Amino acid sequence: MPHTILLAAPRGFCAGVVRAIDVLDRILDTEDGPVYAFHEIVHNRFVVDGFRDRGAIFVDSVADIPEGSRVVFSAHGVSPQVVQEAKQRNLKVIDATCPLVTKVHLETKKAARDGYDILLVGHEGHDEVEGTKGEAPDRTRVVDGQADVQALGELQRPVFVVTQTTLSVDDTRETIDAIRARFPEAEVRNDICYATTNRQAAVKEIAERADLVIVVGSANSSNSVRLWQVAKAMGVPAHRVDGLEEIDPAWYEGVGVVGLTAGASVPDELLQPIIDDLRARGVTKVEPVVVAEETMEFRMPEELSRL
Ligand code: SF4
Repeated sequence: MPHTILLAAPRGFCAGVVRAIDVLDRILDTEDGPVYAFHEIVHNRFVVDGFRDRGAIFVDSVADIPEGSRVVFSAHGVSPQVVQEAKQRNLKVIDATCPLVTKVHLETKKAARDGYDILLVGHEGHDEVEGTKGEAPDRTRVVDGQADVQALGELQRPVFVVTQTTLSVDDTRETIDAIRARFPEAEVRNDICYATTNRQAAVKEIAERADLVIVVGSANSSNSVRLWQVAKAMGVPAHRVDGLEEIDPAWYEGVGVVGLTAGASVPDELLQPIIDDLRARGVTKVEPVVVAEETMEFRMPEELSRL
């Protein structure tokens, strides 16, 4: 049975998630009327359920928000079309988009203005990708892997490449290599963020030494799912769970060392019950495996100071 936990660091909340949660938290504390959130504020079931319990109303369409209401845009960002619809409905908007996502929007907008065709490496349908694509919908193609690159037709304009912030570092390198092979003159921005990069480096370290890796994070959390995939790609059994209740104790049979980590939208408190449970099963050592120190902080949105 398990005797050691390797605890990845960094893990859990990134600066963009902390900021988005703080924004919604403050608005719920100060606003009298109903507070809407366009899309899940961050992709974590526990966090979203907590806000729902406090009265936040989550919607996926601006049309579902009564005119003049308060709304918070999620950390994943929104397209200019959504901003426009919100204006038309006279909504009081606080934008909690992560500044690193905003940077990708600005790159995309500028590239379109400068006459490029844009390849957006990312997962079609993800909130962040929908928002970024909306900056230049007629010029942007989403590519998710090498096969998508091969399937592209000829492009008429010079090519500019941007990426979703939460992709697999290794898969994205391969996709970008494939793009460079087809479009040698392409200008490439790799926008995978520091938090995604650090968490993947940390899960690789623990996966090298663990008999089993557990990744805490919701199924719709892109960066959590990537951590799970990175661990599996290292050849170690790995599971993604929302919390302790989803762990099957049978996974621990024959396992001495358990690697534990969490996606960027996951509160650390979700890991403690898993650690306590493993201690009850005989774990005597919890070893942090630190690959990077994170000191990043983002300023709160200016609109908040005007409340
Ligand atoms: Fe921002 Fe990266 Fe966190 Fe996404 S994962 S909110 S891009 S810091």
